Amino acid sequence: MEISSKLLPESERKYSQIANLKSLPFGLYRTDHMFLVDFKDGEWRNPRIVPYGPIEMMPGAVSLHYGQTIFEGAKAFKHADGEIYAFRVDENAKRMNVSANLVCMQTIDENLQVEAALRLMDVDRKWCPDMPESSLYIRPFMFATEDALGIRPSLEFKYCIMLSPSGPYYAGGFNHGVRLLITDRYHRAVSGGTGASKTGGNYTASLKPGMVAKECGASQVLYLDSSNTYIEEAGAMNHFHITKDGTVVIPEFTDSILRSITSISMLELLPSLGYKVRQEKIAIKEFVEQVKSGDIIEAGGFGTAAVVSPVNEYIFDDGEIIKVGNGEIGENTRKIYEAYTAIQKGTAPDKFGWLKKVPRY
Ligand SMILES: *Cc1c(COP(=O)(O)O)cnc(C)c1O
Repeated sequence: MEISSKLLPESERKYSQIANLKSLPFGLYRTDHMFLVDFKDGEWRNPRIVPYGPIEMMPGAVSLHYGQTIFEGAKAFKHADGEIYAFRVDENAKRMNVSANLVCMQTIDENLQVEAALRLMDVDRKWCPDMPESSLYIRPFMFATEDALGIRPSLEFKYCIMLSPSGPYYAGGFNHGVRLLITDRYHRAVSGGTGASKTGGNYTASLKPGMVAKECGASQVLYLDSSNTYIEEAGAMNHFHITKDGTVVIPEFTDSILRSITSISMLELLPSLGYKVRQEKIAIKEFVEQVKSGDIIEAGGFGTAAVVSPVNEYIFDDGEIIKVGNGEIGENTRKIYEAYTAIQKGTAPDKFGWLKKVPRY
């Protein structure tokens, strides 16, 4: 499918507004353009790059009532050669379709998704920041647009990609250890539900628990499965921990865990850094015992936005706090973060072929 474009004249583009900033917030700035394509009458139509702006839709659009929406998150980086490199966007395109299937939305050709992201980044390439820990955050998303109030899957959709020049997820960057709340009062997903889809409702379900976590002095919830037996996710990131024999452990993916591209990349990368790595069901009871005994020395979360987020402490509903290791960011977590981001920034070789250079179309 041919992607058309209607671009802003150079004089109306706004990229200079970030040119002199020393640091960038995460996810607040928008570039000049966005990509859109519509699904109607059984096919995707009119793929186009247009100025970033409001989208019109009918008040009866299914997404507004029943939350039929999905999204993705990826990043691109400006390297020393001045070119922009997108990180594993083909994996995001694949997962978009996994998410779509789980919530009865229309799948969309992966090649079209990737080409659209690359063309959009080419058009808005001057927005790609190059300060430390910054990236061009790529946000593809799809929502149901059919004007129909019966509860059934929509027959019409809009797929969109927007870009956000961003700094680190936490203002302090990697050096931001967090505390997570261990609780059996809240769950983000259940077996048989939609937890393996990046669908809006999962994130709505996590808002209240996130607020309660803050009231308890934690930044997020360590989510357990609905029987309160196994660890599922660290907020909106995959959980990981490191044992004292140098093994990195990630929960086995289930239908209530989002298959993180950061996690699957770590499964490939970590053996080359000398770590053993495995996925398994992690019982919360044993996890807590091993943190207390010192058999688990480091823990945290994996995800595109914060990359590697170290967890220094866990707090329970009764206020008890346990420290992981000595309660500071561990050296292994730091080493993993640095090796991973070095590939993204192009200061280490891309030996797994994870980067795609944004062409000059
Ligand atoms: C997006 C997300 C992740 C991280 O996935 P990445 O592909 O690494 O960004 C983990 N858990 C949840 C619940 C998520 O939504």
